[in-house]
Amino acid sequence: MKKNQIQTNSEDHTMKLAEKLASLLKPGDVITLEGDLGAGKTTFTKGIAQGLGVKRVVNSPTFTIIKEYSGELPLYHMDVYRLEDSDEDIGFSDYFDSDGITVVECAHFIVDYLPSDYLNINISYVDDHKRLITFRPHGRHFEHVTSTLIGYI
Ligand code: ADP
Ligand code: MG
Repeated sequence: MKKNQIQTNSEDHTMKLAEKLASLLKPGDVITLEGDLGAGKTTFTKGIAQGLGVKRVVNSPTFTIIKEYSGELPLYHMDVYRLEDSDEDIGFSDYFDSDGITVVECAHFIVDYLPSDYLNINISYVDDHKRLITFRPHGRHFEHVTSTLIGYI
C-alpha cells in the first residue's frame, strides 16, 4: 500500500473515514470521487454528510445530477456520469466557488471545470467488504488534509 492509500474493511469503516475527512474541510472545498459502479462513492459521500451534521438521508443523485443538503456547511452532491457525452457546463463554478462542500462522483467527465485545488479520491474494489481508497490532493490545503487524515488511522 502506498502512503496516500487506506484499505477499509466495511461500509461503516469507509463512512467513518469520510466523516473524519469532513471534520478537516473548509467552506468551498471540492472533493472528487472516482471508482466503478458499486465501489463506494455514494457511501463515502454519506460519511461526509454525517460528518457535516446533515440530517436528511443522502442517496445517489443519479437522476438529478445535483442534490443540496444543509448541514454545518451546505453539502452539494453531484453525480456527473450522465454528462459523459455532453461536456455540458451546468454552472459548476457556482458550486465550486460557494461556501459549501461540493462532492462530485465521476468528476473526470467535467475535468475542464474543476478548480485548481481539490481532493481526488479513488475507490477500488478489493473484495465484497474491502476497498482500497487512494487520495490524490491538488494544492497545499488538500496535501495537509490528506496527511492529517491518514495520520489519524
Ligand atoms: P458507487 O456510488 O461507487 O456506485 P455505492 O456507495 O452506491 O457505490 O455502493 C457501494 C456498495 O458497496 C454498497 O452496497 C456498500 O454496502 C458496499 N460495500 C461493501 N464494503 C464496502 C466498503 N468497505 N466501503 C464502501 N462500500 C462498501
Ligand atoms: Mg454513486
